[in-house]
Amino acid sequence: MRKLASIQTITLTEPIPNADAIERLKIMGWWVVAKKGEYRAGDRVVYCEIDSLLPERPEYEFLRASCFKPAIQDGEVILQRAGFRIKTIKLRGQVSQGICFPASIIPSGASLEVGTDVTDHLEIIKYEPPVPVGMGGRIKGAFPAFLPKTDETRIQVLEPLLDRYRGTTFCMTEKLDGSSMTAFLREGEFGLCSRNQWLDETDDSNVMVRLARVLDLPGKLAQIQQRFGFQPAIQGEVVGPGIQKNKYKLTQVDLRIFNLLDIGQYRLVDRPLFLEALASVGLTGVPELGEIVLDHTIDQLVELSVGKSVLEQGAQREGIVFRPVSEQFDQDVGGRLSFKVINPQFLLKYDE
Ligand code: AMP
Ligand code: MN
Repeated sequence: MRKLASIQTITLTEPIPNADAIERLKIMGWWVVAKKGEYRAGDRVVYCEIDSLLPERPEYEFLRASCFKPAIQDGEVILQRAGFRIKTIKLRGQVSQGICFPASIIPSGASLEVGTDVTDHLEIIKYEPPVPVGMGGRIKGAFPAFLPKTDETRIQVLEPLLDRYRGTTFCMTEKLDGSSMTAFLREGEFGLCSRNQWLDETDDSNVMVRLARVLDLPGKLAQIQQRFGFQPAIQGEVVGPGIQKNKYKLTQVDLRIFNLLDIGQYRLVDRPLFLEALASVGLTGVPELGEIVLDHTIDQLVELSVGKSVLEQGAQREGIVFRPVSEQFDQDVGGRLSFKVINPQFLLKYDE
C-alpha cells in the first residue's frame, strides 16, 4: 500500500546551482526543494509524496496560491473534497517531488519511527483527477478477489532493490498513460474489469466493453486456454481517443497488454510465455524498450526514464516499467518484483 505521508529522515542536503535561497533535500529516492537552512541532514520529518491532497488547514494555507484544488462534485455529492494538491514542480532547474514538514505537525502520541504511515493522522488523501468520460457505465460489483489489481511501485521508495538486484537483467517496457483494463475467462465465464471495478460486459456505453468485442477477447482468451492449458486473464492499458487526452494522438482506441495471468495459480506467467501467448492470438503488448542489467542509482534510472513515447514522437513517455524475465517475489515490493520509474518531464508537462 502506498504511503502518501510518512515519517522519514533527510539523508542529504545539497545546494542548487545559481539559487541562494533554496536547496535540495534527499528523502528516500526523492529530491525535494526547500528553503535553505530550514532542514538539516539527519532531521526526521513528515514527508508527503506527490499526489497527496492535504486538507484545508491554517498550516497549509501557504500552498493556496500554487496548489489549491476545489472539491469535485456531481450535483450535491462531493466526490473528492477540496485541498492542496502536491505535484512535481521545477524550481531553478531542479525537479522537486513532494513536500516535507517538521515532525512536530504530528499530533502528540503518534509514533515517530521512520517509515510510519501518517497519511490518516494528517487526513491526507490521494488526489484523483476526475473520471474520464466513457469510463462509467453499469458495474457488476467490486474487482474480483481471484485476480490481483494492476499496480506498480515507484522506485523512489524501493531504494534497497538497487543493491539487491545489482547485476540482474530486467526487461523494460514503456509505461502508457491510459486506463487499466482486465479481461478474464474463468470456469467458462468471460468477465471484464476496469482498474477497480467489475464491469457489466453487456453495457455498450463503456468503451472497454466495446473494445473487448472489437478485439474478440472472449474468443482469444478461449484460444489461450486451449493452447496453453490454464484459465487466463489479461491486463493492459486502454489508450486512444477520449482517454487521458489521447496524448499519443491515436485514431482509435487500442489495448496494449502488460500482464498474462494463470487464474488457477493466481500467478503471472513468465515473460517468454507471455510474449508467445500474445503473438499466438494476435494481441499487442506494451512497447518493448529492451533489456538492461541493473547497476544504477535512482537518479540514473530517473534520467533513463526521460524520453519520447514509442507511440508518438511528439509526446513525453510517462515512464518505464522494469520487470525480471521470470516472475519472483520481493519483500520490499510486498509482491511480485516489478517497479516503475516515472519520467519527471512527463509530470511537469501533463500532470494537472
Ligand atoms: P499508475 O498509472 O501510476 O497508477 O501506475 C500503475 C499502472 O500503470 C498500472 O496499473 C497499469 O494500469 C499501468 N501501466 C501502463 N503501462 C504499463 C506497463 N508497461 N507495465 C505495467 N503497467 C503499466
Ligand atoms: Mn496510469
